[in-house]
Amino acid sequence: MEDYPKTIMEFDERFATEEGCRQYLYQLRWPDGFLCPRCNHHEAWTKNNELYQCQKCGYRVSVIAGTIFQDTRKPLRLWFKAIWYITSQKHGVSALGLKRVLGLGSYRTAWTWLHKLRCAMVRPGRDRLSGIVEVDETYIGGEKPGKRGRGAAGKALVFVAVEDKDNHVGRIRLQRVIDASAESLAKAVNATIEPGTTVRTDGWNGYNFLPPAGFPRIIVRKDSIVGDNLLPLVNRVVSLLKRWLLGTHQGAVQPSHLDYYLDEFTFRFNRRTSQFRGKLFYRLIQQSVALRPVIGKEFRGGRAIN
Ligand SMILES: [Zn+2]
Repeated sequence: MEDYPKTIMEFDERFATEEGCRQYLYQLRWPDGFLCPRCNHHEAWTKNNELYQCQKCGYRVSVIAGTIFQDTRKPLRLWFKAIWYITSQKHGVSALGLKRVLGLGSYRTAWTWLHKLRCAMVRPGRDRLSGIVEVDETYIGGEKPGKRGRGAAGKALVFVAVEDKDNHVGRIRLQRVIDASAESLAKAVNATIEPGTTVRTDGWNGYNFLPPAGFPRIIVRKDSIVGDNLLPLVNRVVSLLKRWLLGTHQGAVQPSHLDYYLDEFTFRFNRRTSQFRGKLFYRLIQQSVALRPVIGKEFRGGRAIN
């Protein structure tokens, strides 16, 4: 059962103490009870719910070990506040906004937290899109449309896949690709779309691999220039994405960080109809404890691998 606070009052009551936060993490990390990460045994000793010792192999593990909260010197309460704040803002937050709201001493800390949480927004092994999916690519970070199949200076090419739910936008997936070659597009398609799914494209020959790879293809438009003539559902998503990047991040997105922003946008977008913001909070915490810790230096080269 999904258990999450529905209002800020409930949030404040429930997570007023470190113990309250730890209990919540325990529930999400070990929904069927303790599970030893080393030997899979189910029984453990604990004194204060901070540290658990496996009754079989003696392994000691805390509820935050191996999660993004590992090695944090800040209280879990502050992390929970950060996650509540991030998930309750409809359009997302900036590092500066987070720093102010939490009263964090340094911009760097706020920035690191935000990026760790963005990593957690991508659930490892999450579901691929299915049904009928429309795909296209767009450039992010440049003014002029570029030529397809080639890199463009200062721009990132993003592969966009959108589920068609009776002509409405369903779930989406966004993925940076180095170019629009068949090889790059095949990788993106396989990572984001379930085999057997009908895929709608324009006439770009980079998508010729689809039918032999097991994806029935519908070509809805013959011409194929990347830029402002995107297919309709993709176009809707891309204009929202660009507006979001501009509004929340003032368009100041470094190409090396674009993957994180794409993940955050996707996380929010695919849950835009969630009845309660608390549900987003629940998901993000759930995904935060399911992840190995992200080490600072991993940010420099791009995204963390998970
Ligand atoms: Zn064990």
